[in-house]
Amino acid sequence: MALLRTALALALLATLVLGVPRLLDVANRLAASQPSVAAVPVKTGTAASQVLLAGLEDGACIRLAPTRGHLDQTVFVDAGHGGLDPGVVGTTRSRRAVQEKDATLAVASRLAVLLRADGFGVVMARTKDTTVTKLAGSDSNYGAITYSGVHRDLAARAECANAGGADVLISIHFDGFSDPTVGGTETFYDSARPFAAANRRLASSLQSALVARLGAPDRGVWTDDQLAAPALTGSGQSYGHLIELGPGSPGWVDHPSRMPGALVEPLFVTNPSEAQIAGDPAGQQKIAEGLEAGILKFKSAPA
Ligand SMILES: [Zn+2]
Repeated sequence: MALLRTALALALLATLVLGVPRLLDVANRLAASQPSVAAVPVKTGTAASQVLLAGLEDGACIRLAPTRGHLDQTVFVDAGHGGLDPGVVGTTRSRRAVQEKDATLAVASRLAVLLRADGFGVVMARTKDTTVTKLAGSDSNYGAITYSGVHRDLAARAECANAGGADVLISIHFDGFSDPTVGGTETFYDSARPFAAANRRLASSLQSALVARLGAPDRGVWTDDQLAAPALTGSGQSYGHLIELGPGSPGWVDHPSRMPGALVEPLFVTNPSEAQIAGDPAGQQKIAEGLEAGILKFKSAPA
């Protein structure tokens, strides 16, 4: 694929050598000066507990019980980026900044409410504007997260999904590109896992439900190695998968996620019209409802 995706490139650590992050640099500068878009507060109550894992941020890897019924199924809901890692930053047509990390948390919080009411247990990678793992001093440089910090944080998310006993993993991101007219919905999965068929089915269910709700251009379902092939160098290239979805690789991904998973990019926040939807509570609810519908369809269909 010819397009350069800042958000995913970061997730892949493609940024190591690419010199990609024109957008990311902008993102990091904006992060310090722009007010955050408030996420929906997660009403955790007594039904919430932190999964036992070393080195977690406060409010990270939180297990939430169903609020209605009980399906004995747990969904890991990952709000991409957070804390020092803003992800992609775009602006709406009215020049309001939308940070990927805020939009992902808002959608994740709304999705958790919907899934819990459907009878699912939910493990949220984060419930606040933080990374999932507590960053060490060496994980940031002049207020920006380093690539090793991103790598540690992504590995911690996969570990959280495992430790939380998740049956399915949903990682929520938003896309970015240098051309603001580029937009649409796309979803990624890993085809190298033993449960690749389930990954693909999950990704397709999420993609079609998102496209139906949002009406944005359908950019399709992709495997994470298709994404990696043209772009990566260094460790990222030799791995060639998204860290949260891919197989184990000693020293790089020591504890790979153990359940079917997909990474969704519902919209481009670098497209002003799509940033408007991504930064708006009604749009975030629509995305959450699309994800819920995709998960329900995946869970109801025969394997
Ligand atoms: Zn992202």
